[in-house]
Amino acid sequence: MTASLPQDLVDRLREIPAEAPLLVCSDFDGTLAPIVTRPEDARPLPGVADQLVRLAGTDHTCVAVVSGRSLADLAALSGFADPVTLVGSHGGEFTSGFVSEITPQQEELLRQLDDVLTRMIADAPGAELERKPLSIAVHVRQATRPDAERVLGAVQEGPALWPGVHPTAGKEVLELAVQQVDKGSAVEHLRRQCGDGATVVFIGDDVTDERAFQALRPEDVGVKVGDGETAAAYRVPAVSDVPPILTLLAALR
Ligand SMILES: [Mg+2]
Repeated sequence: MTASLPQDLVDRLREIPAEAPLLVCSDFDGTLAPIVTRPEDARPLPGVADQLVRLAGTDHTCVAVVSGRSLADLAALSGFADPVTLVGSHGGEFTSGFVSEITPQQEELLRQLDDVLTRMIADAPGAELERKPLSIAVHVRQATRPDAERVLGAVQEGPALWPGVHPTAGKEVLELAVQQVDKGSAVEHLRRQCGDGATVVFIGDDVTDERAFQALRPEDVGVKVGDGETAAAYRVPAVSDVPPILTLLAALR
C-alpha cells in the first residue's frame, strides 16, 4: 500500500513516536473526496470512512476532518461520525461542542451580505450562495467563465472590503465570514483536545489548508495533495494517494 507514497513522507511518518498522542487532520473536498462539478455530489473515496474509524480506534490517536463546508453539510455528505471529529466552516463549527458565538452585530452584517450577494449573482446563472452560520460562500464553478470572473471581481471589490468581513478565496469560491476563523486555529484547538503536545499530521489540497500548514510545528507533518504553492513539507499527487497514508498511519500506531 505504501509503495506509491513518496519515500521521504513514509520515512517521516515512521519517525512519529507510537506512544505519543497523534492528531490526524484532513480536509474533505479534494483530499478525502474527489472534486466534483456539483458540490452536493461530493462523496468520500470508498473505504475511507472505515479507515478513519480504524485509525481513530488505535492507541493515543485522534482523527478530525476539517472542512470549509458547514458542519451539517459535511456530516451529511461524508457520512463520517464519532469517533471522527468533524469541524465545519474552516473551524467555526465543531462536533465536539465548541461553536463560536455570533454577536447581534455579526448577525446583522450576515443579513446585509446575504442581500447584496443575492443581487450580485442574480444575472450569473450557475453562481450559487452557500449560507453557513458565520459566513456566506459564493460558488462560481458552474457559471460561465466571464460570469465567474465578473461576480468574483465585484465581490472582492465590494462586500469583501466591508469592515468586519473576512474574505477567504478557494477553488472557484469566495467566502465572506463575519468572524475570523481559519483552519490554523482549528488545528490548535483540536491539538489541545487531543492531548498536550500531540503531534499533528495535516492533509489538504486547497488554499484554505495553507493556514493549517503554516500553524504546524517542526515535529508536525503537513501533506499537500496536488499542485500549487504550499507551506507543507510533503506532497502527494492525487486524492487516491491519501488512503495509503491513513493505512500506513494506522499500521504504525
Ligand atoms: Mg479541499
